[in-house]
Amino acid sequence: MPPRPYVLNEANYRQLLDDRPTLAVLPWGATEAHNYHLPHGTDVIQITHMAEEAGRLAHEQGGKVVILPTVPFGNDAAQLDGQVATIHLGTAAALAILRDVALSLTKQEIDRLLILNGHGANSFRPMIRDVQLEFGMLVVLVDMWELAPEVKGETFENDGDHADEFETSLMMHLAPDLVEFDQAGPGTRVPWGIEVLDRPGVFTPRPWVEIHPDTGSGDPSKATAAKGQAWLSAATAAAAELMVGLSRAKKGDLPYM
Ligand SMILES: [Zn+2]
Repeated sequence: MPPRPYVLNEANYRQLLDDRPTLAVLPWGATEAHNYHLPHGTDVIQITHMAEEAGRLAHEQGGKVVILPTVPFGNDAAQLDGQVATIHLGTAAALAILRDVALSLTKQEIDRLLILNGHGANSFRPMIRDVQLEFGMLVVLVDMWELAPEVKGETFENDGDHADEFETSLMMHLAPDLVEFDQAGPGTRVPWGIEVLDRPGVFTPRPWVEIHPDTGSGDPSKATAAKGQAWLSAATAAAAELMVGLSRAKKGDLPYM
């Protein structure tokens, strides 16, 4: 396989000089326990696959994109209790990474950045506001699991937000050898002791292992590789459209000022 010019890990200087990207894509994952049956790298595997596959589709459609290496750590401040080697990247460190990526790109005349987020506890919005103000670049965020909502709604039966039917299906499609399906716990949730926390609009982090004893949130038992493939292909196509649209934007097209 020759080097893919849209994947920075593989692209050489010649390729990038000959066809300069206008949009950089930064996939951002997390390294954390995912019930008993999925690897700690689940979010990294998923978001890297989606970024590179969407990059391929965007490249075929004439988009000038480059996919940066995936940031492997995410915000796991609430997931260090009772776990073994989950890694937490705090907000100050995440902002420092994002800021230096933005500094590096704008120095080399890439003034558009798409963050492809693969982990629910990563919150980028205030950081994006700060980075845009400082560097004047267009920074766009997409949370992976929000893509292709119709396909998601008609494909998956059980709700959840971590190592659930959705994530297990993706991994059965992407990395079946890493899924120990018969080891999966039920992904149950222990209810809050402070009942008012259930009211709409109220948020506090879940102390993870107290609330989700097997670390999963959602019943994975109905997961299949076919479900994972169905959603992933729709979501990846949507991500590719976003990349093409951003890479073609011109100064003056709002909000790219
Ligand atoms: Zn995950």
